Amino acid sequence: MECLARPYGSLAAGSWFKLIGGASLQNLPTLSNLALVYTLAGADCIDVSADPAVIAAVGEAMVHGHRLAGFSPDAGPFLMVSLSDGDDPHFRKAHFDAERCPSDCPRPCLRICPVDAIAAGGIEALRCYGCGRCAPVCPLGLIEFRAWQAEVATIGALLADCPVDAVEIHTHRGNLEGFKRLWRGLAPVLPRLKLVAVSFPDEPGMREHLADLWEVMRAGPLSDAARSHIVWQIDGIPMSGDLARGTARASVRFAREVSTWRLPGYLQLAGGTNDASVELARAAGLAIGGIGYGSYARQLVQAETETGPLAEEPERLRRAVEQARALVCQLKPHLQQEGAAPWLTTTPQLR
Ligand code: SF4
Ligand code: SF4
Repeated sequence: MECLARPYGSLAAGSWFKLIGGASLQNLPTLSNLALVYTLAGADCIDVSADPAVIAAVGEAMVHGHRLAGFSPDAGPFLMVSLSDGDDPHFRKAHFDAERCPSDCPRPCLRICPVDAIAAGGIEALRCYGCGRCAPVCPLGLIEFRAWQAEVATIGALLADCPVDAVEIHTHRGNLEGFKRLWRGLAPVLPRLKLVAVSFPDEPGMREHLADLWEVMRAGPLSDAARSHIVWQIDGIPMSGDLARGTARASVRFAREVSTWRLPGYLQLAGGTNDASVELARAAGLAIGGIGYGSYARQLVQAETETGPLAEEPERLRRAVEQARALVCQLKPHLQQEGAAPWLTTTPQLR
């Protein structure tokens, strides 16, 4: 039977909107708020770290959003989990020993962190998503990075009991064996997935690498639905969309090349995406399934999502959804034409 889930329709229409929650972000209150806001704003997918506590919190917030807005389960968004087949900057945490910091240090690391993960005592690991901005500003070079991701051998079991619709695998050229190991580890969940994404940077030889990955994926026990909804995430400048509008150019430039590779499925921009991305993609005439937004989309609503549970604060929730919706509507102008959702113009009945 054909699946009529709205996210599939968005991919086909080129209007797929994915919120990238951060492949190593584990800040549960913030992620719950983000999931609620972007579910209500009309996102097609919410992509989070492979942490059972994160998956549970985000899944619960999405269900609450469905109830609040009266969406049917087919309305999405899909709950996606990000994984990596090897070393990758998205899957790391910053660390330093605060006892080595001079007492007169002006603490530039603290000021540059976009998510307030750094305090006098060090880095709060659950808040850090590995963006890397703190390390170069430390005059003593005290900040280092530690890889953070689930063990490949346990990923299948980890996801088996979680309400996950989709997985995304971050890859690099030369990681084919790592990809194969990860794909084998995912065997328990592959038959029930609705979608699989592969995220890749602009590296020499990437076209051939992706062709090798597709052969592995074709041979696995992937569901028919996911097999016909492969998303290729074109990662421009990782974790940079909130820095400047110009960061949006990198993934558009790379996408022009990738669109000649004839990959099966859909292309999706990411890595530096922001409110300039839709305009740039249209100007370039790109045929894409949609766009994933990370740090830009999170920062857009940060004033509301960082200050307590939005599920209990109707006015703050309404403000955050309106801000998020403005970004979503760039890809989905029909939402704008339909006007504000009824719950946005009345007092939401919160739990
Ligand atoms: S600046 Fe980035 S890498 Fe450093 S602590 Fe903050 S989130 Fe983590
Ligand atoms: S900039 Fe370096 S030395 Fe200064 S507080 Fe941060 S980690 Fe410590």
